Amino acid sequence: MKKIKILIFCSITIFFFSCEKNQNDNEVIDCNHYHWGYDGDSSPDTWSTCYSDCDGQSQSPINIEGAIVDTSLSALNTNYQDVPIELNYNGHTIDFLYEAGSSLDLNGVDYNLIQFHFHTHSEHSINNNFSPLEIHLVHKDPITENLAVISVLFDEGSENEFLSKFIDNLPDTMDIPFNSSELVNVSDIFPENNGYYSYSGSLTTPPCSENVSWFVMKSTMEASVSQITKLQDKIKDNFRPVKSLNGREIKFFN
Ligand SMILES: [Zn+2]
Repeated sequence: MKKIKILIFCSITIFFFSCEKNQNDNEVIDCNHYHWGYDGDSSPDTWSTCYSDCDGQSQSPINIEGAIVDTSLSALNTNYQDVPIELNYNGHTIDFLYEAGSSLDLNGVDYNLIQFHFHTHSEHSINNNFSPLEIHLVHKDPITENLAVISVLFDEGSENEFLSKFIDNLPDTMDIPFNSSELVNVSDIFPENNGYYSYSGSLTTPPCSENVSWFVMKSTMEASVSQITKLQDKIKDNFRPVKSLNGREIKFFN
């Protein structure tokens, strides 16, 4: 009997010591059962406990200010095809899975457009101003697997024609996607002004890998209050707070 008690005590001790301690609120986090999120026990300030890169020095998003005009930059060279609509809810956001064949050319390297997704409110801010909606277009270099993400910020205004093609069919369960054969082209969400801010950063969700070239469009687009509300109803507050710049330079193409 005594042996069993000692065994149980040891098992419990080993269990607790194998758990990581969260420095922020002294709660014990077991990374084997940790599901990152945006509030409570899984809020962004706990992510680095189980995903060490989230504590890195080149994290995203950031507040954009003090950008420096870089005359060596040029307009973004995108080649986006018309594709059918394929929307998935992944537990954190809604992904539009973009059919293969679209890309962003960065200095002669083709980064394939994989998907775009939504954040409400925005993750990036410009001069400390947040927008109610931000869309991230995620492109990947198939060889290095480095990412290039283009961000478009949306303010409240008139109805957005591109969003209207699927805004009433947003999925909110993981196993029920929305598909439509109607063809759309994501180039339709780009502002007329092709100015952008560029900096080196990370994924804004775990594992927070620091292999992302960011391009945040300078001009915002518009979406109606009703459209923004429909997105908020599904993915409210799925934004990571801004991270320190830590000496990184923000370049500006105007
Ligand atoms: Zn994102």
